Parts: sequence; structure tokens; C-alpha cells
Amino acid sequence: GVAIRLQNCRKTFADGTLALHPLDLTIQAGETLVLLGPSGCGKTTTLRMIAGLEFPDEGGRILFGDEDVTRQPIEKRKVGMVFQSYALFPNMTVAENVGYGLKVQKVKAADIKRRVADMLEMMELAPLAHRRISQLSGGQRQRVALARAIITSPRVLLLDEPLTALDALLRDRLRADINSLLRKLGITAIYVTHDQDEAMALGDRIVVMEHGRVSQIGTPREIYFEPQNDFVADFIGQINVFEGQVRNRCMQLPGGSLTGVALADGPGRIHCRPEDMEITEAGSGQLTGVVQQTQFIGDRNRVWVSGVSEQPVLVDCDGRAQFTPGQTVGLLIKPDQMIRLDQQQVRAA
Ligand code: ADP
Ligand code: MG
Repeated sequence: GVAIRLQNCRKTFADGTLALHPLDLTIQAGETLVLLGPSGCGKTTTLRMIAGLEFPDEGGRILFGDEDVTRQPIEKRKVGMVFQSYALFPNMTVAENVGYGLKVQKVKAADIKRRVADMLEMMELAPLAHRRISQLSGGQRQRVALARAIITSPRVLLLDEPLTALDALLRDRLRADINSLLRKLGITAIYVTHDQDEAMALGDRIVVMEHGRVSQIGTPREIYFEPQNDFVADFIGQINVFEGQVRNRCMQLPGGSLTGVALADGPGRIHCRPEDMEITEAGSGQLTGVVQQTQFIGDRNRVWVSGVSEQPVLVDCDGRAQFTPGQTVGLLIKPDQMIRLDQQQVRAA
């Protein structure tokens, strides 16, 4: 794969819709970059510009390695694409679908046969080689779509919500397969999704997008543990917000005084992940509240505690911990688990 650079890529559609504000983005060679964000934020538009299916407004540039491809149509760019809807040829067999790109490139029939066989083997599709697409399940179709996209050794693989149409179990399985496939091939890949778990699992880096702009770029860990703004903090996982007056590193909250807050005196805000808090015996935590509701989900017990902050606070406890609604509890947050959005994670003073 090659490195891909977008420079000043703004996109206005014919009807005047500004889908993307000027975007600068570099995808390293061999990297899997995930574009993550809610519906309508501009993910597909970005991908289609990279593919050559849309062109940026005047002044935008797209580079594949050192080559300027800004005005190149899709046929010239040598990209592989996989979409949510499979876009396969329904009346062709699996093998014919997978070999299609090679046929277009006028590769010799014997070579096509061999390369298709290798590819089907790798994608665990060999037993299905002679089936028609209409006879396959959704997951199998998406494997075929992947095989068809990568067999021509594209310079970049573009995937637009490829798992969205599949049921949860299949999605998990195929996600793991795509992950190992991308690592094995070392191909440059751009993966679009609105699913944060998928983004975390697949991305070397994640670009969180909101309303046609990049909200944050970082590794999954950076995005999760060091969100830079409210949008990213809320969009990725669940997070609690504590808001109150700070004095001498203590924040005054309805449930007590939260100590170890590395903020200046005055009104302040701190975020904390549900798994970074602990429920203690009543009276022994920094804060006090009342269990409002619990939800046992096996590995965790999700506990909502009211009276601590303006909103109920969500705490993820060990699955074996049991609490009863109405029970008064203490709450602990370690200072180094508090997230301050304007900066790096707050360290203990
Ligand atoms: P996403 O893939 O993140 O859901 P899109 O890139 O498809 O978002 O769309 C971004 C914005 O551009 C949306 O507001 C969408 O309605 C608009 N848009 C997409 N394609 C077109 C088009 N061909 N003409 C006009 N507006 C469009
Ligand atoms: Mg889209």
C-alpha cells in the first residue's frame, strides 16, 4: 500500500450542501485508518473522494505516495472497495466474482484461475467457489466482496460500513477476520464505520468526525483515554460528567466533595469512565449517593447511582458485586482516572 494525503479537501455538493470542511489528513502506508462518526458527518464523502468517485472543491489535493491523483477517475487509482451492500454480480459464481478484476486487467486465464484459487483458500471460500452469489449468506457475500477487492493488489483498500448489514455474531467473527487480514496484507486501508467498538478493534488510528470536520485523530487508546472534547468523550464509550465549583483541588458536588481534582479554582468539569470508579461502603467514599438501578450483564454489573452529580452516575462493577436499588453507597474516583477534556489526562497532584 501507499501513503495517502488529503490536502485542503473541501466538498460542496451541487445542491450547495457543504459535506466537508477543508480536510487535511495523512494515512500512512500500511496503516488501517478508521473514519468514525454519526450518520451524515462526511465519512462516505471522504472515502468517495479518495476512491475518485467524488472530487474535492477547487484547491483540494489528493496524493497517493508522491503521485497527484486529484483529477484521476476511479479506474486509474487502483483502489479496492467494499461496501455495506455487497455490489457483487448476483448471477456469477463466487470464483467469477473474485476473478472479475483480473479479467478486466486482461490477466491470462491460467493465472486468474491460480490466483482466484489461492484467494478463495485464504478467505475460506474454496468450498463455495462454484456457488452463485444468490445462494450465499450475508457473511459469505461480504467475504467474497473482500476477496474481490484485494485480489488485484490495490494501492489502498476502502471499506464503507462493510459489516453494518450483518447480525451481531457474524459481525464479530468477520471483524476479527478483517483485522487479521489487514495485518497480514499490510495494505493501506481506510475503514468507515459509525460503530465505536468496530473502530477500536480495527483502527491503528481513528479519525472521529462531526458535521464534516475532524473532531480528533488518535490511536484507539488516545481517543478513549484522552478525548479532547465533549463530542469525542460522549461518542466513544460511556462517560460521566462532574460539574461544580473547584476550590483547592476539591470539587463541590451534590454528593460531597471530590478531592484530587487538578483544576484551577472556579467552575470546573471532570469526566470519568464507568469502569474507573468504584462503589464502596456508605460513608467511606469521596462521594455519597443512592443506587437507582442495576443491570447485570455477566462480566459486569452496571450500577446507576443518583444524588452524586446532576445526572445519575454510571459505575461498572465486577459482575459478582450486588447492589439493591435504594441502597446508600460511597463512590471513589482515583485522581489519575479523571479526564480533563482540554488537556492530557489529569495526573495525581
Ligand atoms: P456519512 O457517510 O458520514 O453518513 P456522507 O458523507 O454520506 O455522511 O454525507 C455527508 C453529508 O453530505 C450529509 O449531510 C449528506 O446528506 C450530504 N450528501 C452526501 N451526498 C450528497 C449528494 N450527492 N448531494 C448532496 N448532499 C449529499
Ligand atoms: Mg456513509
